[in-house]
Amino acid sequence: MLVSATDAKFLFCPLLKTHDDKMKMCQVSMCMMWRWTDEAKELGYCGLAGNPLQMTK
Ligand code: SF4
Repeated sequence: MLVSATDAKFLFCPLLKTHDDKMKMCQVSMCMMWRWTDEAKELGYCGLAGNPLQMTK
């Protein structure tokens, strides 16, 4: 899913949990899995699910 960095901060990460087992938000560029598609426009995606620009039906 291609998202803006601002929006990604409000999406849950499937990997990160708090010490009391609650989901945490995406860490965006602070995470090794984050990939920029257009850094100037601040668009990117979580690399865990593959590149959304290469997916076909
Ligand atoms: S980019 Fe990193 S922090 Fe964000 S959802 Fe993916 S794995 Fe989680």
